[in-house]
Amino acid sequence: MTTTVTDALLLRAVDYGERDRVVTLLTADLGKVSAMARGARTSRRRFAGALEPFTWMRVQLRAGRGELVRLESAEPVRTYPALLGRLDAMRCAGAALEACREIVAPRDPDRRLFEAATQMLEAMQGEGAPALETLLAFCARLTALAGLAPRLDACGRCGRVAPERGAARFDPALGALLCSRCGHGPILLSAATRAMLQGACSGTWTRSVQPLEPTERAAGLMAVAAHLRVRLNRTLHGLGGLVERVCGDRADSMADPVDDSSREPGPCAES
Ligand SMILES: [Zn+2]
Repeated sequence: MTTTVTDALLLRAVDYGERDRVVTLLTADLGKVSAMARGARTSRRRFAGALEPFTWMRVQLRAGRGELVRLESAEPVRTYPALLGRLDAMRCAGAALEACREIVAPRDPDRRLFEAATQMLEAMQGEGAPALETLLAFCARLTALAGLAPRLDACGRCGRVAPERGAARFDPALGALLCSRCGHGPILLSAATRAMLQGACSGTWTRSVQPLEPTERAAGLMAVAAHLRVRLNRTLHGLGGLVERVCGDRADSMADPVDDSSREPGPCAES
């Protein structure tokens, strides 16, 4: 790469010295890259104010030393003012971009990832859009693109197919449904939650987003957060914070999805 012009979203910015920032970008053509943004700390004008979270920008990148490229310029292509006006949407969009940052491998271009991320921001903009459901569906799409999708059609142990359009139990440690014969997965996914997450693994993921009941939403959030925690071997800050906020005490009963042998089922895991 000498110089590349591509569309990008900001996934992270870390101050570097007095004047600069190191930014992590999700780009349409190069995948996830780290770039040195010279002067980004001292002058917002240096990058036309584009170097902000939740801004679709067009960037010019130049090869630098090693993995770090140089951000030559950035200009906004699309902003999401309605998203910025809603705290719940901002929280969910922030958690979605953090998940993106942690799941996507560096320099592994896949335009579908960039497309999904911009679709997510667009969906969060909608008047009264269900932000948490959009986040859950986006995470399902992201895991599908990264080869980490949960198995939601059948028991991950015995392969028994779960009834279509039915509730089923999910085991985050297994990353799949776990049927009653095999030991009952700890999280009960309602028919609607399961259908939404299954549908969201496809390219038309935004169409599967639908408002869920509070208990369905809480269970879906716990399932997605725990699934990613096990797959990535770390807790994602944004999703973890939302689990605490939405599930409260119920989250404690899901704290360790790996060992569920001695645990009483939480309120989200109805029999
Ligand atoms: Zn089974």
